[in-house]
Amino acid sequence: MIDTKLLSDNEEDLKISAEFLKNGEIVGMPTETVYGLAADACNPEAVAKIFEAKGRPSDNPLIVHIADIEKLSEIAYNIPDLAYRLAEAFWPGPLTMILPKKDCIPSITSGGLDTVGVRMPSHIVARKMISYSGLPIAAPSGNISGYPSPTKASHMMRDMYGKIPAVVDGGTCSVGVESTVISFENDNTVRILRPGYITKEDLQKIADNVIIDSAILEKLSDGQIVRSPGMKYKHYSPSADVILIDSNYKDFCCYVNNHSKENTYALVFNGEGSNLSVPFFAYGANGAEQAHEIFSLLRKLDDINADTVYVRIPSKDGVGLAVYNRLIRAAGFEVIKL
Ligand code: AMP
Ligand code: MG
Repeated sequence: MIDTKLLSDNEEDLKISAEFLKNGEIVGMPTETVYGLAADACNPEAVAKIFEAKGRPSDNPLIVHIADIEKLSEIAYNIPDLAYRLAEAFWPGPLTMILPKKDCIPSITSGGLDTVGVRMPSHIVARKMISYSGLPIAAPSGNISGYPSPTKASHMMRDMYGKIPAVVDGGTCSVGVESTVISFENDNTVRILRPGYITKEDLQKIADNVIIDSAILEKLSDGQIVRSPGMKYKHYSPSADVILIDSNYKDFCCYVNNHSKENTYALVFNGEGSNLSVPFFAYGANGAEQAHEIFSLLRKLDDINADTVYVRIPSKDGVGLAVYNRLIRAAGFEVIKL
């Protein structure tokens, strides 16, 4: 078993992390969204180590991270003008664009697709790791496949200790949920394949039309076309049973109090909880706050051996849509409407 090193964000440690990447190793990398498991996107052996460490299905493609815009045309082609306008508005930041891939991106990185998801992160540590390595960096979320994404170095150490040589500690992720993933339908239309911190309203400032893919809100039916392979898997789930309750606060409290057993907890909005007979955590007052807290709280509920967690359903507006999308998957689409 490898003794995974916890590296700091000082220059010496960042250069060590870049050496690991250049040598075909995988390293835990902080970004503003969540921590990623980073490797040279063009090195199939290095990328294979990511799939192995996460236990990720081989058809679920990885996002490739760059630190300067010139690199975009080295890994993708047929890049529409709209992509450059979106990059101008939202990069560096939590937006991933799906584009036709060049041959330097191996099939293992793209999950067998002929496209590649590209993003330029804003986190200074990610930017330095990418630029010091000089490589396009493939980095999926650094959790064990299916488990909530890591938003702190300690989460990554818990999931990856013994499997990878190092994790770089860049503090708590500011956004807390993964990037918004979009594809291009035509010159002025984009489709949101995965919601994130960059919202539909944000994208509408640059693109004339923004479509929300149906897979974001609903369970895929058998045989339905999957535009984003990650959407078909149960995901973001702690060991505890997560149950979403779609109701007002009063009915939520009645339901939870009547159904509480040992190790039952509740996740409520800020300022709520005093009417509950079970222990509870507040997960924020708006979408951005909820995004920041949600994965950390789901992991904490496992740490305290929660069996069942009843969750107040988040709003689907703005950043709330990203939180809703993660929670319905964490709940295996189990929503109780009162
Ligand atoms: P993660 O790496 O855990 O943030 O997951 C990456 C997400 O981006 C998954 O949901 C993938 O399905 C999606 N993704 C990455 N590359 C592509 C691509 N080429 N086409 C469609 N979806 C992609
Ligand atoms: Mg993930």
